[in-house]
Amino acid sequence: MTSKISKIHVDRDLCIGAAPCVTVAPGVFQLDDENKAIVVDATGADDDTILLAAQSCPVQAIVLFDEQGNQIYPEV
Ligand code: SF4
Repeated sequence: MTSKISKIHVDRDLCIGAAPCVTVAPGVFQLDDENKAIVVDATGADDDTILLAAQSCPVQAIVLFDEQGNQIYPEV
């Protein structure tokens, strides 16, 4: 990956609490009491791991942005 991840967004309407994101990057994602993923620390894993976590989401609820605010993942 060339661009640096600077913002992580979880779409709570899409999230189904399947939690592979938490398994892949527990330092970044945790489930809250509604069983939706939240970002606990955007710097809790390296960019490759965060991308892997986003890719592991079955409903693509994790959206990643670079420093310019461009969406990196899912690809648009
Ligand atoms: S992998 Fe996707 S659906 Fe599952 S908890 Fe994470 S954000 Fe939610």
